[in-house]
Amino acid sequence: LFNFAAGPATLPESVILKAQADLFNYQGCGMSVMEMSHRGKEFDFIIKKAESDLRSLLSISSDYAVIFLQGGATTQFAALPLNLCSPDDSADYVVTGSWSDKACKEAQKFCKAKTIWSGKPDKYTKIPSFDSLEQNSNAKYLHICSNETIHGVEFKDYPTPLNENSILVADMSSNFCSKPVDVSKFGMIYAGAQKNVGPSGVTIAIVRKDLMGSSQPITPVMLDFKTQADNASLYNTPPCFAIYICGLVFEDLLQQGGLVEVEKKNVKKASILYDAIDGSDGFYVCPVEKSVRSMMNVPFTLKKSELEKKFIEEAALEGMVQLKGHRSVGGVRASIYNAMPLAGVEKLVAFMKDFQARHP
Ligand code: PLP
Repeated sequence: LFNFAAGPATLPESVILKAQADLFNYQGCGMSVMEMSHRGKEFDFIIKKAESDLRSLLSISSDYAVIFLQGGATTQFAALPLNLCSPDDSADYVVTGSWSDKACKEAQKFCKAKTIWSGKPDKYTKIPSFDSLEQNSNAKYLHICSNETIHGVEFKDYPTPLNENSILVADMSSNFCSKPVDVSKFGMIYAGAQKNVGPSGVTIAIVRKDLMGSSQPITPVMLDFKTQADNASLYNTPPCFAIYICGLVFEDLLQQGGLVEVEKKNVKKASILYDAIDGSDGFYVCPVEKSVRSMMNVPFTLKKSELEKKFIEEAALEGMVQLKGHRSVGGVRASIYNAMPLAGVEKLVAFMKDFQARHP
């Protein structure tokens, strides 16, 4: 079965098998990771190795803290302004889809967050030219969502904040670890794990250390980056099992040769799918501007929209599931994260061609 879900999403088979082998008795210690103390030596090894492997994958320098948090990426929509702004500070948001829109609306509760560009009039099919962004000269940060999971638009390069005291912040939930990223361009990166790197329940934040320590007084302790970093993500009981699985995924990505190799595979998968759409004489249509099409989430519609339901149902019968587009946009969406094998995309493309031939 090939699972094209947007998240929680498919994980590498080798990771699931390894976790299965460890399930009752982690590395011979007699306990499952679900049962052990988060302050014991086994879990200490697990979380330190997960962090160290992630640092290797993304070449994260010691200027940054890596923290494992809870509450999903959605909680970071609030944590970010609470940590980086006072209520009167301004923050700029580039709204390229539903997730960055939600992030901005949440931040408005805690600071003067402003949408400085919105792709809504174009149904979120574009990324703005960076020169056209009217950034606020006082903004504490410039926020982007590097890959909009619902609309399938992805930043291929990143804007620079206007003033040197400002920082770039990215919600990378749906393209985290899908390709190399120069972390030093960002003040903060955050990502829910459940697309590319693990199960739901853990959110990873990479925060420049000098930005921590001046959160708003009302900041709940669990959302305070400095508290979490000072306690090595163990201020309270963390999502131990989810962190363990992320660690196995990071190990797997390193074994594949790191993110340069991972990106090559993702480029190949995405290009055969987009080529199939573009080569279908308009039977299938992807509305996203070609230069910013997502390598992870591929939304498309059928010209004969009345066939979409049948397309999704027949694909499921052939073992390709979760192809329905997000309820807010409809159509079809194939999420092809790191763990989707090339064979899954090839099977989908063959099905698309056959379906088209059967519906002239
Ligand atoms: N940001 C992006 C880009 C997402 O795709 C999602 C979830 O799909 C979220 C944020 C929200 O994540 P969570 O459900 O972990 O809060």
